[in-house]
Amino acid sequence: MLRLENKTAIITGAGSGIGRGIAEEYAGEGANVVLSDINEEGAQETRAIIEEAGGTARCYGKIDVTDYDAMRKVRDQAVKEFGALDVMVNNAGIVVYDNILESRLDDWRKVIEVNLEAVYMGSKLAAEVMVEQNSGRIISISSIQSFMTTSQVGAYNAAKAGVVGLTKSMAVELAPYNILVNAIAPGAIKTGMSVAKDGTDETETEDFKENYLAKRRIPLGRAGVPRDIAGTALFLASDDCRYMTGQLLIVDGGYSLTL
Ligand code: NAP
Repeated sequence: MLRLENKTAIITGAGSGIGRGIAEEYAGEGANVVLSDINEEGAQETRAIIEEAGGTARCYGKIDVTDYDAMRKVRDQAVKEFGALDVMVNNAGIVVYDNILESRLDDWRKVIEVNLEAVYMGSKLAAEVMVEQNSGRIISISSIQSFMTTSQVGAYNAAKAGVVGLTKSMAVELAPYNILVNAIAPGAIKTGMSVAKDGTDETETEDFKENYLAKRRIPLGRAGVPRDIAGTALFLASDDCRYMTGQLLIVDGGYSLTL
């Protein structure tokens, strides 16, 4: 028995990394997955991978998650095609590295817009349909950086902490409609986002291998991969998750436990 048989899910940022991992996992469990990404080529690639494996996926073009009208069209098209919207995964995200003194207001606003405001918009669009259905799941990808930090990521941290606050508030507001709202805090996951501007993958540096892996700053001794997050996103979307809402699930190999 597939765990998401006949369910329909929209996944933002599904053209690479964690979003693609979640899309593949959901489709493998029988869901119709609607892939939205500003990187249309990536989203089409994800669609091809899923279809090749026998799954059902759609991509309705290049979709900027901060464009409310475009996102509404995606939602409406998904509902028209599949008859319902069961799961909304707010996953798209960006990071801009800057400290408070040198950072620019434009960059701050962009990071907040993509990582927080778009979560509000995607959730609102999904909730409108889910309230009518009297069922649904809203899952947002936050980060362990919502509660621990390094320098140069102020806007990102603020946005990811905001996602946790919004998740709790929506969980309370939408509970009467049988809509469960939860968030996931990934740790260091090997994706496009772990590659810095100069092309260095932070999960491949000597420092990472020495301190995070060999010396077990990450107790499980490896960087995460998208499928590690996808498994948790599957649980949150499935009937196995019935009595949990407003929670932040930390999926970081134990990273946030260590000093
Ligand atoms: P990723 O591989 O860069 O995937 C993010 C996807 O979102 C990309 O395809 C990106 O397109 C897309 N995107 C960016 N801006 C968008 C917009 N305005 N509208 C629609 N799509 C947009 O990174 P990832 O690691 O999988 O990140 C997924 C989520 O996990 C993010 O919310 C991130 O903050 C969170 N996260 C990641 C880690 C980690 O270690 N990787 C840890 C904690 C949390 P482009 O490639 O064209 O930019």
